[in-house]
Amino acid sequence: MASVHAIRFHETGGPEVLRWEEVALPDPGPGEALVRHAAVGLNYIDTYHRSGLYPVTLPSGIGLEGAGVVEAVGDGVTEVAVGDRVAYGTGPLGAYSEARVMPAATLVRLPDTIDDRSAAAMMLQGLTAQYLIRRLFPVQPGMTVLFHAAAGGVGLIACQWLKHIGATVIGTVGSPEKAALAKAHGCDHTILYRDEDFVARVKEVTGGAGVPVVYDGVGKDVFDGSLDCLARRGMMVTYGNASGPVPDVAPLTLNAKGSLFLTRPKLMDYVATRSELTAAADDLFDVVGSGAVTIAVNQTYALKDAAQAHRDLEARKTTGSTVLLP
Ligand code: NDP
Repeated sequence: MASVHAIRFHETGGPEVLRWEEVALPDPGPGEALVRHAAVGLNYIDTYHRSGLYPVTLPSGIGLEGAGVVEAVGDGVTEVAVGDRVAYGTGPLGAYSEARVMPAATLVRLPDTIDDRSAAAMMLQGLTAQYLIRRLFPVQPGMTVLFHAAAGGVGLIACQWLKHIGATVIGTVGSPEKAALAKAHGCDHTILYRDEDFVARVKEVTGGAGVPVVYDGVGKDVFDGSLDCLARRGMMVTYGNASGPVPDVAPLTLNAKGSLFLTRPKLMDYVATRSELTAAADDLFDVVGSGAVTIAVNQTYALKDAAQAHRDLEARKTTGSTVLLP
């Protein structure tokens, strides 16, 4: 049987648990495809799997996103064919590999307008921006919204897309350099939330009214303040834990702060069927293909150096998207 190199981990912990190993590459079975990766996407969720915040069965592969070429397919595969350029952003775990066998139904064909690195950078983060701002809470032209970590991977895509929709974007960022980057990607108002009171700034920008929706991938550090940024009957979208998971919330808190809505979504539930996945991917490919949204691949690492990529991501040193190159 053929073999390839992959990053795996045998115990949860810091970036040092990630190991570069030789693994078997079987032939694809029914419904499966063998994909040779051109690029692999790095996402914050990878750190949750590695640390144990999101439990996985050990030992485990890691990574949910990649782009490459289909080299072989098993019986009954209709979604893709040998030679197709494809990408995926919803796993299963094991994307940090030179090549892999995976369910063909999770793959989408890439249009010629999307290069491999952009594809590996945008599937998970771009499909996330798509469901957050187009479906979970469809943002309308003229709305003012708050997006946390605006200079991050999901953040830079969302800022551009929100601007394209005609919204006004308030974005929190961790440094002046990140503020400049977010502004260059459509963020109208940036807040240095490590130094400034972001609730007061949001109130100032909105004339005291607050925003109809907060998109929050930061979690613990900003959750309480984010509720205070919402207008009456506003929607709190807590979708990530970069600073740690949000503690329990009493429903009466939502009542006291203005009949708020609270949701804790995940991408998998918004691309749960093949038709949802392809419709969302087409929407994403359209805004990227038209140039309305550009994919900022601001860091690349050799795949075998994935541990360093994790260190930099968790130390808030990265901006936009990061890809790992096999
Ligand atoms: P990012 O590129 O946005 O990286 C995370 C950013 O969070 C950092 O760059 C940093 O930006 C900010 N941050 C704030 N506090 C901390 C902290 N204490 N430690 C580290 N970073 C911090 O990552 P992604 O784009 O990959 O993901 C963004 C968020 O969205 C993550 O929480 C991720 O888990 C979540 N997510 C959720 C999905 C879902 O469907 N539920 C799908 C995809 C992503 P700054 O320095 O500007 O504060």
